[in-house]
Amino acid sequence: MVIRRLGLAIFSVALLGHPPAFADDASTCPRAGTLGVSRTVEIDTTGGPGFGMEHYKAYDFLQDKEVVLTFDDGPQKYTTEAVLKALSDECVKATFFSIGKMALGYPEIIREVAKAGNTVGSHTWSHKAIAKLKSFDDAKDEIERGVSAVHRAVGGPIAPFFRFPTLVDTPEAVAYLGKRNIAIFSTDIDSFDFKPQTADHLVKSIMQKLDKRGKGILLMHDIHKTTAKAVPMLLAELKAKGYKIVHMTAKSPVTTVADYDQAIEKEAKGLPQVGAERPVSSIVKTVGGTPPAAEASSSAGGEPEGLPPPPTPDAAAASPAAAPLPAFPTTPKAPAAPSEVAPGKQSSIEQNAPVVAEVHPAALPATAPTQASASVSAPAPVSSSVAPQPVVNVATSEVSPVKTIAGVAPVAAAPAAAAPAANAKAADDALPAQPPKSISEKLKETWKFWFGE
Ligand SMILES: [Zn+2]
Repeated sequence: MVIRRLGLAIFSVALLGHPPAFADDASTCPRAGTLGVSRTVEIDTTGGPGFGMEHYKAYDFLQDKEVVLTFDDGPQKYTTEAVLKALSDECVKATFFSIGKMALGYPEIIREVAKAGNTVGSHTWSHKAIAKLKSFDDAKDEIERGVSAVHRAVGGPIAPFFRFPTLVDTPEAVAYLGKRNIAIFSTDIDSFDFKPQTADHLVKSIMQKLDKRGKGILLMHDIHKTTAKAVPMLLAELKAKGYKIVHMTAKSPVTTVADYDQAIEKEAKGLPQVGAERPVSSIVKTVGGTPPAAEASSSAGGEPEGLPPPPTPDAAAASPAAAPLPAFPTTPKAPAAPSEVAPGKQSSIEQNAPVVAEVHPAALPATAPTQASASVSAPAPVSSSVAPQPVVNVATSEVSPVKTIAGVAPVAAAPAAAAPAANAKAADDALPAQPPKSISEKLKETWKFWFGE
C-alpha cells in the first residue's frame, strides 16, 4: 500500500513538474534569448497601397536594422513546416504569400502557419504570370481564385495582402487590387533562394544584401529545402548582428467574392471541413495488397529525406503543365513543387543582383475561368486588443497606411523632420527607376540565367 502511495506521489510530482508534451513553443513567446518580434505594424489596405522598394516606393515604413520576413509559393510539405519551426523557435513572425492551389493541397499546413500568428496573404491561384495572360478577366480570375482558395484553406480571415508572381504587375491588375482594397507587396531584398546553392551561401548572400541596404522586406520561398535549412541560420545571424523583426498585420481581413468562393468549393470538393485535418493515410492504412502511391509515399514520409527535390530549370522546361491539384486528404504527395524561373526586374537598389527574380511554378494546371459577381461576402470581424500608436510616416507627406500597434513606434527620422516637403522626392531621387523591360527581354534574361547564352 505504501509503495503504491509512494508511486502515486511520484507520478503526481512528475505530472506537475513537466509541461504537457503538446505545449506549443509559440505559446511561451516572447521568450528571453530569442530574436522575437520588435514591432508589429498594422496596415490599412484601403485603396491597395504598394510596398517594397523594388517596385513601389510610396511607403517605406521600416527603420534602420528592421527586417520583414516574407515567404512565397507555399505551403509545401516539410519545407514550410521546417520554416514554421524555425520561426517559432525564435518567437518570430512572418508573412506568407500562399498560392491558392498549394493552400488547398495542404490546408493543414497553411492553417498551422496562420495559427502560429503569422500573416497569410495570397499569391494567385496557380502562379501564372499576370502580365502574360490574354485578358484582364483571366488576371482577375487568377487573383480572385487565389484569394478565395487561401481563405478557404485557412478556414478563417486572411490578410488583404497580395504579391504578383515573378513580381511583375500590370496597370489593370494594380488598379483592380486598389478597388478591392488589397495591398500589393514587392520586395526590398530578393534572396534568390530558388537558385541552386548551399544554405550557408544563401544566408551569407542575404546578409550581405541586408548589411548593404540596412533594412528591408526580404523575399524568400518556403518551398525550397535550402531555404528551410537556411532560415534557422539566418535568424541566428540577424540576432547576432542586431537586426529586428517587424511583423506586418492587416487592419481588416480580406473580403472574398462569392462567385469565386463557390468556384473554389467545387475545386475543393471532398476537402474536409476545418478541424478535420487528419489525412486519410494517417487513418486508413493498407495492410495487405499494394498500397496506393499516395499512401506509400506517406509512409515513407515524416523524415527530412522525404523533402521534395529542389525545383530545377529542366523540370520547369520539361513539364510546363504537369501535376494536377493533389487529391486531398492524402497530403504527402507533393503538388509539383513550383519550379520557378522567372524573369524579374533588376532592382534599382541591388544593381549587382542577378537579373532573375522570384519563381514561377510552371507545373500548375490551368483552370476554367469563372465570372465574378459584384457581390462581396461580409468581412470577418477584426479583433484587436492593442492600443494603436501614432501613425508614422517616413517616406511621404500623405497619411501613412502603416501604423505600429505593438513594440516601439519609430520617431520620424531627423532628415525627414528637417525637410518634410522634399522628403518623398528625395527618396525617389536616391533610387533611380529602372526602365521597364519588355516581356521578351525578360524571357531572354531568364533563358540566359538558366541555360547560358
Ligand atoms: Zn512566387
